[in-house]
Amino acid sequence: MKFYILFFILVSCLTFSQKNNTIEEVDSVSYYSNLANSNVSENKYRNALYYTQKAINYSKANQKTEAHSNQNFRLGKLYFEVKKYDDAIKAFNKSISLSNVLQPSSESAYSYYHLGLCYLKKKDFSKAKISFDKAQLLFDNLKITNTVDLINLQRGIINKSTGNLDLAASIFNTIVAKPDSPAILDTKASALYQVGTIEMAQNRNNLALNYFEKALDLNAKNKNLEQKATILLALSTVYEKMLDKNNAYTYLKQYTNLKESISLLDNEKLGIDDYEKFKESERLAEVARTNKENIQKEKTNKFSKLISILAIALISILSLLSLSLYKNNIIRTRSNLLLKGKNKELILAKEKAEKASNARSEFLSTVSHELRTPLNAINGIAHLLLEERPKKSQMHYLESLQFSGNYLTNFINDILEINKIDSNKAQIENTTFNLKVLLEKTQSSLKELALENNNNFSFKIDSGIPDYLIGDPTKLSQILMNLINNALKFTHDGYVMVTANLVSLEDKKARIFFEVKDNGIGIPEDKLETVFDSFSQGSVDINRKYGGTGLGLTIVKKLVSILGGEIQLESIVKEGSTFTFELPFKVSEKPSKADRKPKKINDTNLIDKKILVVEDNKINQMISKKMLENKGIHCEIIDNGEDAIEVVKNHKFDMILMDVHLPGINGTVATKKIREFDKTTPIIALTAISLNENRKMLLSYGMNDVVTKPFIPEDFYATISKHI
Ligand code: ADP
Repeated sequence: MKFYILFFILVSCLTFSQKNNTIEEVDSVSYYSNLANSNVSENKYRNALYYTQKAINYSKANQKTEAHSNQNFRLGKLYFEVKKYDDAIKAFNKSISLSNVLQPSSESAYSYYHLGLCYLKKKDFSKAKISFDKAQLLFDNLKITNTVDLINLQRGIINKSTGNLDLAASIFNTIVAKPDSPAILDTKASALYQVGTIEMAQNRNNLALNYFEKALDLNAKNKNLEQKATILLALSTVYEKMLDKNNAYTYLKQYTNLKESISLLDNEKLGIDDYEKFKESERLAEVARTNKENIQKEKTNKFSKLISILAIALISILSLLSLSLYKNNIIRTRSNLLLKGKNKELILAKEKAEKASNARSEFLSTVSHELRTPLNAINGIAHLLLEERPKKSQMHYLESLQFSGNYLTNFINDILEINKIDSNKAQIENTTFNLKVLLEKTQSSLKELALENNNNFSFKIDSGIPDYLIGDPTKLSQILMNLINNALKFTHDGYVMVTANLVSLEDKKARIFFEVKDNGIGIPEDKLETVFDSFSQGSVDINRKYGGTGLGLTIVKKLVSILGGEIQLESIVKEGSTFTFELPFKVSEKPSKADRKPKKINDTNLIDKKILVVEDNKINQMISKKMLENKGIHCEIIDNGEDAIEVVKNHKFDMILMDVHLPGINGTVATKKIREFDKTTPIIALTAISLNENRKMLLSYGMNDVVTKPFIPEDFYATISKHI
């Protein structure tokens, strides 16, 4: 089976290759040129011309320049043989022009030679001479020598025809003198004939006759019929000149007979009709070719037009693109400059705004600080007067004075608090505290307010809340106090419920949800957003009726936010309000010292103690002194830091109350210096804390505690008892 398949493949390949060979044979220069040759040998010149033209077309189409040149030479020769000299000249010239790019060849030399013959036939002797000269040159270059006599013969003919008879005769005689050899027979016969004609022209008829007869003898050997006819006519003419009518007639008769048969042969080669038909078909082919070329040219033109249009379009697009890029660039550069300018302006504006904000903070801080000192005097004196058992009629005024003093103190504290938060100076504590204790304390401190308004005041604390949390208990109680205070204030004969729920407890992190809910007067819907703005109160009536500064919720919102939560409010007028927020805390294992139950403060330990008060303000000196003496304390007053240091060096005190803002050296600096020699005497800072002061900072100078002005008398005594 395998063998059969192999055999089949082999046979197929062979058949295919044979087919290919046939295709090559049918359409090739050699194929057409062979057909042309066989038609020449059969005297069928029309066919020969046809196939030669085919060979030319093929070699042209396949860019075979050498074959193209050779086939044109062959075409020229065919035309020459059928005496179509103009066509022949065209073909030879074409062959010569094509061969210019090739190596010199015998074909191009013969082309020149035949071109010369054609011009000679057309009696264009100058062109004929040029052609023969070029042919000779090429033959010499190619070292072809057997053509010398042939060309000399033609030169002789040209000289004879142009009247140079002597030169012509000498050229012919040179050829005549050569021995008879088959290659030269034809040329020699022609030369003999030519010498004869020159002799005859000079009436040397016998000599002429002699040459003609010799020529005829040689011609008999080469069978050149045209040559024979020419010689026969010359013989008839010379006999006629010699008045030998018989011979003249006989040769004339021979001549006409031969001419007739030559003409018959010529006709056989290519009849007049044949030539015309061939020429017509050639013309039509040429027209078809030109048409095809024109169509091709048109196509090429269209294509190149299209390419040009596309190129122009592309260039235009590219130009537009570059233009837009360029413009864009300019615009970008301009915008950049503009932006840079704006940026500078913005930086300046930001700096200005920061400066303005700082200035505002500083201003608020200074104003509230300056207000605290006289406020301390007002509150202190009101306290002292109330303690001195005033008359009943004075009591009301003193209580109003105390209320106003407290109100102002709260107001200033609130402003300071907001100022601190806004200036990012509020510090977040991270201490351990017990939330349950904190809530209990809050409840007990507000119990009285609840009773005043006849409110049911309850706390619901999730038992899952860890005992000890780490966070900022001060800020948390500030938030709760504000919210609960409001709830109790704006609710009468209702309830206020505070809830703390554990939301999540993971990785020692707890999230706690706080809710302060009341069923009081509620807040109108359009005020729900604005109640958190500074100085925003429900209405003027509310302000009159319930009091307040409109700063509480502002502080609450800011504090919740800095502790990591967000305050939410839901309220319906006359139904009540609910404030909620959620805060993150860390869970602590151990309680901190601060959370352990504070010792009950006992005023009795103050009796007979010796305290140094460092204070420059005369009224405050008086108030502090009076308040201390009321508790049985001996008090010495110094109004500057430098003197205070000296006094402490020389005397023993149980405590020093040090005002921070003093003329000369500051209270902090004085404390630092005292601590250099006395590390034990407790020093308490008395300060109207400003923006840049805080408890931590003051303690860092060696102070033991801080009492803020204006004093709340209970806190004042409690702090002294704690440290004495
Ligand atoms: P104020 O010191 O006036 O209480 P807040 O900032 O604490 O200032 O409160 C702003 C306003 O919000 C109050 O004047 C009041 O109109 C309204 N408000 C706050 N809490 C409540 C509440 N629980 N019930 C009704 N109104 C409230």
